[in-house]
Amino acid sequence: MQQAMQMTVKVERVPDVQDALARLEGGAILIPPKSGECQLCAVVHEPADPHNRDSLYYQLVFHQEHKRPPTWADAMAHCSIDVQCAWRLHLRKVGVAEEVLGVNPEQN
Ligand SMILES: [Zn+2]
Repeated sequence: MQQAMQMTVKVERVPDVQDALARLEGGAILIPPKSGECQLCAVVHEPADPHNRDSLYYQLVFHQEHKRPPTWADAMAHCSIDVQCAWRLHLRKVGVAEEVLGVNPEQN
């Protein structure tokens, strides 16, 4: 039986591109979001809207900090209840699985 190959990748968030380039050796790096992009998910969106849970940047940074993948509930935890309800309705309509949608933190 063949064992699955395991690979550990150290992900490091760095404050700027020059610092990122300086740290290129020895592990994976994340280039910081560009000016005008959300600094948490590296996507352009209104501050009142959810972070993009599907953003690779958001997923890597979130996983590093919380030791689990983010859910949409995490990505919209900072949003108003109205925005969260609208997004949950939309995400269910487009077929997002409940485990990816996550539990509304307001309900716990
Ligand atoms: Zn964001």
